[in-house]
Amino acid sequence: MPKGLEEKVEVTWLSINVWWEQQPTPLTCYYCFASPLSRELPVKDPLRATLDHKIPLSKRGSTNLKKNGVIACYPCNRDKGVLLPDEFRAVLRFRNRRDALRKLRQD
Ligand SMILES: [Zn+2]
Repeated sequence: MPKGLEEKVEVTWLSINVWWEQQPTPLTCYYCFASPLSRELPVKDPLRATLDHKIPLSKRGSTNLKKNGVIACYPCNRDKGVLLPDEFRAVLRFRNRRDALRKLRQD
């Protein structure tokens, strides 16, 4: 790895760790409010805490975590992908309705 890049990666990791330490506990999902989330859980656990960029980096979202970083549960982060927060909220409403329907049918 080139020297400059190595330093950049180092700085990025430091700022991510500082960001995590600054998050209020219990860790709560910004999108679905699932709580308490934990970073210690296995990667695909529904209560695994992840860092999400509200505005995806691929859509010119800021890399500044104070402005653009939020805590998300693993399922929200996975399903949100490159959607904007408003777009994802619409998906979430659909997901909740689908789950509610599924429950109704099982009763
Ligand atoms: Zn969530």
